[in-house]
Amino acid sequence: MSSAHSEVDGRGPEGASFGGKLDLTGAVALVTGAGRGIGRGIALALAGAGADVAVNDFADEEACAAVAAEVEALGRRALVVMADVSDEEQVNGMVERVEKELGPLSVVVNNAGITRDNVTMMMDPADFDAVIATHLRGTFLVSKAGARRMFRRRRGCIINLSSVVGRRGNAGQANYAAAKAGVIGLTKSLAKELGARGVRVNAIAPGYIDTPMTQALPEEARQLIVDNTPLRVIGTTDDVAAAVVFLASPAARFITGVTLPVDGGLGI
Ligand code: NAD
Repeated sequence: MSSAHSEVDGRGPEGASFGGKLDLTGAVALVTGAGRGIGRGIALALAGAGADVAVNDFADEEACAAVAAEVEALGRRALVVMADVSDEEQVNGMVERVEKELGPLSVVVNNAGITRDNVTMMMDPADFDAVIATHLRGTFLVSKAGARRMFRRRRGCIINLSSVVGRRGNAGQANYAAAKAGVIGLTKSLAKELGARGVRVNAIAPGYIDTPMTQALPEEARQLIVDNTPLRVIGTTDDVAAAVVFLASPAARFITGVTLPVDGGLGI
């Protein structure tokens, strides 16, 4: 096993100093929902840290190809894998293809997401199901396919996108909040199941990040969020991507089962 690999799995030599080590050279990462927004930012940041990256989405193959080209421009290998994360067969086929073409998967980032907002009294059950299927079933299916391989190899990590809304709830987003709270429970359980094999599982809970998902908000709503955020700014995709690189890196080798807020203090 190369030293790069032993670092990625978080099992470096006893007493070694990992201070400042955010190098992911030798890692193969899969990022779901990476055609745009936070997922695109994560894919590029992982590539910038040295990882080869599989770019997944279920829509806009052209956008995914553009992200893959950006990964390659950073000197890393890239693969576009179109698949719906809520579909078991598609997920299993995707993970198999990633391993065949890029090599053993060592970083899984469950980022794909949708919103179908409404107050609960008016919410169509189909919108409840769709949000749960994407965030919760999707995270379960992709994690399961990745975990089976990482468990056998005793190396790797999984990073799940939760949300400040999963920790605090939000009027008009009961489906999304339930899914994101579920992701936290899934993360902790998986961390307990996989820890003995050195596979780490963590979540990130972003606050409001400037992406196509939030650009739809009216200006007053955005201002209200800024006013309620101690750091008084809306976050960027880079803010979330930096946290993902940290959690995937040897610098986080003793961290598992946590949900890291990246929210400017909104969740306090
Ligand atoms: P986005 O809508 O800009 O991007 C999400 C991507 O996921 C899209 O490209 C979409 O096509 C893809 N996707 C959706 N369903 C999919 C499926 N079934 N299979 C594969 N791909 C699918 O959203 P974003 O703002 O970049 O959010 C990314 C993640 O971060 C989501 O999980 C979201 O819930 C979470 N998050 C976002 C914010 C924010 O403020 N933007 C805050 C907290 C958490």
